[in-house]
Amino acid sequence: MTQTQHHQVGKPLANLSLDLDNEWAYLKTHEDPIWESYPSYLDVVVPRILHVLERRKLQITVFIVGQDAALEHNREALAQIARAGHEIGNHSLRHEPWLHLFSEQELEQELAEAEQHIQAATGQRPTGFRGPGYSQSSTMLRVLARRGYNYDASSLPSFIGPIARAYYFATGQFNAEQRERLNRLFGSWKDGLRPLKPYRWRFDGISLLEMPVTTFPGFRIPIHLSYVMYLAGFSTSLAQIYFNTALRMCRLFGVEPSILLHPLDFLGGEDVPRLRFFPSMGMTREKKIAVVERCLDSLTHLFDVRSVGDHAAIVATRKNLMEVEPSS
Ligand SMILES: [Zn+2]
Repeated sequence: MTQTQHHQVGKPLANLSLDLDNEWAYLKTHEDPIWESYPSYLDVVVPRILHVLERRKLQITVFIVGQDAALEHNREALAQIARAGHEIGNHSLRHEPWLHLFSEQELEQELAEAEQHIQAATGQRPTGFRGPGYSQSSTMLRVLARRGYNYDASSLPSFIGPIARAYYFATGQFNAEQRERLNRLFGSWKDGLRPLKPYRWRFDGISLLEMPVTTFPGFRIPIHLSYVMYLAGFSTSLAQIYFNTALRMCRLFGVEPSILLHPLDFLGGEDVPRLRFFPSMGMTREKKIAVVERCLDSLTHLFDVRSVGDHAAIVATRKNLMEVEPSS
C-alpha cells in the first residue's frame, strides 16, 4: 500500500452542517417589516445546495427553523432535503437569538412546536439542536436532554462575540434591559475558552453531548463558510489559504472540525436583492458557489466528512471525553 492510499483509509473525521436561515430571519434582524410575510428563498437555494453536496456524495445535517416548516410554500424544498438522505436538525421555532433568556416552560413549548412542524415537513424528528446566534443556557441543555436529544451544536468557542459586544457597548446608548440582552447575545468570554473538541455537559444528573462549531485552533477566529466568504470579498485566494490553513491546523492539533454552511453562501446579490445590505451579497452566486466548492473539496480531501449526528454517535462511544459544567 502506498503512503497516499494509507492516508485515504485513515482520514480523520469531520462533520458538515447547514443552518437553513431564511430571508425573513435576516430581514427581521435588519428590522425590515417585510419579514412578517415570511419571504422565503428556500425553493431557489435548496436545489442548489443539494446539487453541490450530491456531486461530492456528502450527507450532512441541515438545521431547520420550525416556522419555515410550518408554511406550505416551503414544504417541497424541505422534503427534498430529507429525500436526499440528510440528517434534519432543529434550529428553533422562530429563530429568536434570545433563547438563553427563555424560561424552562417557554423552551419546552418552543422545542415541541418546532419538532412538530419539522417532523410534518420532513418525516424526521430532530435529535440534534443548534440555537440561533449560538445562544445557549443551562436551562436549554436541561430541556434538550429531557426531550431525548442526542447532541447540542450551539457552541462557538470564539472571542469574536465578546469583542463585537464590547464595541457595541462603547459606541451605543443602551438601557439596563438592553445591556442585559446584549451581554448574553454573543456569548461570554468564558464561552470563548470552551473546548474546541466535542465534550459532554454534565450537571444536576444531566448528560448531553456538545458538538462545537470549530474555530481556528489557537486563534479562535471563525472558519465557517460565511466568514470565509467575507474574506473572499477582498480576495478569493486569501480566503482559500485561510480556510486550508485552518483545516491543516485542525489536523495538526487533532481537532475533528465541525464546518458550518449557510444559504447565503450559495446566493448572490442578484438572487435576493432585499439582502444586498449584507457584506458578502456584493458577490455573484457564481463566484460564491465556486468558493464553497473549493472549500468542500479541501475538506473532503483531508477528512472523512459525516453529518453531525453520525459524528456525534461515534464521539459518544469514546471513553476519554471531557466533562463540562455550564456557567449559567
Ligand atoms: Zn441561524
